[in-house]
Amino acid sequence: MRVLLAEDDEYLLSALTHALKHKDYTVDGVRSGTEANAALLSAPYDLVLLDLGLPGMDGTNVLSELRKRGEDMPVIVITARDRVEDRIHGLDIGANDYLVKPFDFRELEARMRAVLRKSHWRNQLELEFGSLKLNTNSGRLCMSDQELDLTPKESCILHALMSKAGQVVNKRLLVEQVSDWKDESSENAVEIVIHRLRKKLEAADVSINTVRGFGYVLEEKK
Ligand code: CA
Repeated sequence: MRVLLAEDDEYLLSALTHALKHKDYTVDGVRSGTEANAALLSAPYDLVLLDLGLPGMDGTNVLSELRKRGEDMPVIVITARDRVEDRIHGLDIGANDYLVKPFDFRELEARMRAVLRKSHWRNQLELEFGSLKLNTNSGRLCMSDQELDLTPKESCILHALMSKAGQVVNKRLLVEQVSDWKDESSENAVEIVIHRLRKKLEAADVSINTVRGFGYVLEEKK
């Protein structure tokens, strides 16, 4: 789950980045509207957390440019502007939700889950392979009758493997799913997630096999 966080308050930016990474989200942080706009043009994000009062380009312009391009990724506006008019304006130009500073991190997380649920609901996807059923929206995995919870990164990687079950998935493709700009050990990050997934799937009738020098393949156990 890749998140773009645009916030010019240095403290809030680093605190939120830290908290989100701790919850296993992949986060790219930017400090200006210009950078936010450039990031949105260059990479796919699952969710945007957008401050409105940003240097360079105002957050409302970033948002309206995004919507003009026909992009419908969920955007939660995070701002100190708490007048009703500002809120209405933000929602009118295409924000999915609105959070006024200061806020509780748990509330932000709950709202992120809610907009992600809604946005996936439009093309809800359930992937099935062997005894596994993955709801790519909630990240919930069913193994036979047992329900397992996956972290955002685990669900991302398993999603990629299940949608190409039986075929080798290039490791570099997986690295893109779980790494942010500053992450230098992204190959390691993939390996860690794969390791965790293998543990969770120990009892399943499928397994994640390594194809040395190339990537991973999800296969039925022989
Ligand atoms: Ca600001």
